[in-house]
Amino acid sequence: MIEPAVLERLKDIVGSEFATDDPEVCIAYSRDLATYLKFGKYRSPDCVVLPSTTSEVQNIVAVARQFKTPLIPLGSGINVASAHIPRKGGIIMDLRRMNNILEIDEEAVTATLQPHVTIARMSTELQRKGFFIPVPGAPSTVTVGSNYTHGNTNKASLRFGFQYSHIVSVEMVLPDGSLLRTGSWADAFSGDRSWPRGPGPDLTLLPRYALGLHGIVTGITIKAHPLDDICLPIWAAFEHVEDATPAFVEMVHREICTGSSLYGGFKYNSYSADTAECAWRQSRIHPEFILALTIQGSKRRVAFEEKVVRELTDKNNGRIITDRLPFYQMFVDTHMAMSASLYSEFAFKYWASPGAGPSFLGPSSMDKIIPCFKAMTNLASEDEAFGDVDWGNWEFNRSMIAYPDQGGHFAIIEGGIAAHPTDPKAIKAYKRYVPKLIKALADIGVSPDQSRANTRPGEFGISPEYLELAEKFRHALDEVGIMNPGVISPLIYR
Ligand SMILES: Cc1cc2nc3c(=O)[nH]c(=O)nc-3n(C[C@H](O)[C@H](O)[C@H](O)COP(=O)(O)OP(=O)(O)OC[C@H]3O[C@@H](n4cnc5c(N)ncnc54)[C@H](O)[C@@H]3O)c2cc1C
Repeated sequence: MIEPAVLERLKDIVGSEFATDDPEVCIAYSRDLATYLKFGKYRSPDCVVLPSTTSEVQNIVAVARQFKTPLIPLGSGINVASAHIPRKGGIIMDLRRMNNILEIDEEAVTATLQPHVTIARMSTELQRKGFFIPVPGAPSTVTVGSNYTHGNTNKASLRFGFQYSHIVSVEMVLPDGSLLRTGSWADAFSGDRSWPRGPGPDLTLLPRYALGLHGIVTGITIKAHPLDDICLPIWAAFEHVEDATPAFVEMVHREICTGSSLYGGFKYNSYSADTAECAWRQSRIHPEFILALTIQGSKRRVAFEEKVVRELTDKNNGRIITDRLPFYQMFVDTHMAMSASLYSEFAFKYWASPGAGPSFLGPSSMDKIIPCFKAMTNLASEDEAFGDVDWGNWEFNRSMIAYPDQGGHFAIIEGGIAAHPTDPKAIKAYKRYVPKLIKALADIGVSPDQSRANTRPGEFGISPEYLELAEKFRHALDEVGIMNPGVISPLIYR
């Protein structure tokens, strides 16, 4: 129940049609693709408010603070970690009305926007003007405000670096209602929006990974890039992980290809499946391991990189398949890091139909890719549920993605487990599988520790000292504790 005085104040701020405690509205905000059955009950907010300006956001924060009411900002709600699902009621601040592109600066090659502009829309608008932004490995319907700051693997490419490094400046409403503006927004004299080096300490990454805990992003300036002359998707297929991995590692170390990821098994194949039947058929023609590569640039650069890819593929017993399987075309846009593509539509099918499941994510040095993959797949095959070929989606259980990270010294490995995320049998099996996997990975020298997991279960590696400091910092920003972290929160700060 929301206090009537709170709702009245919210209506005063945004207008009565944009604040409500109507249970029929609130219940729509109570679950997501991942949580519906998991928590055994609805987790409804007490009210929902839809601001349209930064000052409205500031005023809402002030009300939440005065009445000590939990507050959660909401983007498009598909973080698949339930980070926006309330733990204990409170206010959901749905940012969908803050969806204006404020400026595309063609000289500085930047875009300034409100947080709820989607990746798809931003990409499209920029491409019209001859620019592009790297697109994350996530549905293109996600919001720039959330994805640039909270996306997990957030891969971009060796050439362009990580996606969050494309944030030029942010505007944030802090938990005390004050306004933080970074980059040249912080410069009292220039007021220029597209220069990342503002005066004073740089707090541009304050919202990074905080899932709303450090405040609400109300504006963001991001860097774009001029479109290249040529974009060549070039995919290589391998039968064995022992062949695919060295080819991948060498390509990463030679720093070729705009985007490069190693896909093992069925995972990305299933993104495209309309039906279980379709997924099953595709799995029969799907090569065991794929290097999904994109070369962008001048004619000379593309010719050189293509030659290297072909040589390394050949040397490692692989074959180039891009031109033979038109089905792969659907990935092309995403992996060229260029456009919205059909990805989101397929991804929704993937999550909404049997065949989806929790994935397991962790950083690993490149030389651990093979043992990590084997540990994951062996354990899945031994599990009474995941290993049952007549249940779930067996092919998926042999899958992984390795994204190059940190200059190619590490790979982020995401292994798939096939089952509907809300299937109680899958939830039980996952609980069995994760501790075993943690142990198996520790045995091969990858030491994940779930208690240090960050935004998603399985994203490891944050030191206790860092977490302690982060927690102190959060308390300093939000001593009243209004910024509600959502149901995933115990994994963020202990
Ligand atoms: C099929 C599929 C594949 C995916 N693959 C990837 C992947 O490869 N890489 C990756 O990074 N992600 C991936 N994701 C996860 C997801 O796309 C990202 O986490 C994305 O950032 C979610 O954006 P959103 O707009 O839906 O945010 P939401 O889900 O609405 O919010 C996410 C978090 O950010 C907070 N938040 C939202 N808006 C703001 C704001 N303006 N200010 C402060 N906090 C805010 C919310 O409170 C919440 O804690 C995938 C998702 C799906 C469904």
